[in-house]
Amino acid sequence: MKYCEIEMDALGRIAIPKEIRETLNIAPKTALTLQLKDNAIVAIAHTSVCQICGELISPKKYFRLCDECIAAIKADEVLAVKTIKTYIQRVVDERGMLVLPVEYRNALNMGKTGLVNVELNGETIVIEPATRVCAHCKSTVAVSKEYHLCNVCIENIKRDYVPKEVEIINE
Ligand SMILES: [Zn+2]
Ligand SMILES: [Zn+2]
Repeated sequence: MKYCEIEMDALGRIAIPKEIRETLNIAPKTALTLQLKDNAIVAIAHTSVCQICGELISPKKYFRLCDECIAAIKADEVLAVKTIKTYIQRVVDERGMLVLPVEYRNALNMGKTGLVNVELNGETIVIEPATRVCAHCKSTVAVSKEYHLCNVCIENIKRDYVPKEVEIINE
């Protein structure tokens, strides 16, 4: 699968496609680690994060710390210089639904509802806002889900057709 377009609901939830869930072995109640990366939300299952820097690590690690942080501790180095990666962990529900964090949705200007692109990239699910394009003028502003036309084109269609028919009737 390349990618699929999914409608996000009013609660900011998306249904993770069955194909992706099966490929990545995401059962209900599986925790996903979410991060913002390159204008997308990336979601990784079956992983853990370093408790110091937020780096992704194997969930099997005894200390939940990345190799770099362990090495720094061993060498008595100062860790403050390291970039802290932020992340959010979310659990997939019984129906395979995932709530996209409002912080990330705001950062990506995703609004309350709308189309998102969901793509599987190796072990990572890449979720990004999908842009609906007007079939006529290629505008991306206020494009109707039903007609795949923007508001301006819909208004133009209404303005063109209705008055002409009225004129013909009047003649
Ligand atoms: Zn670390
Ligand atoms: Zn248009």
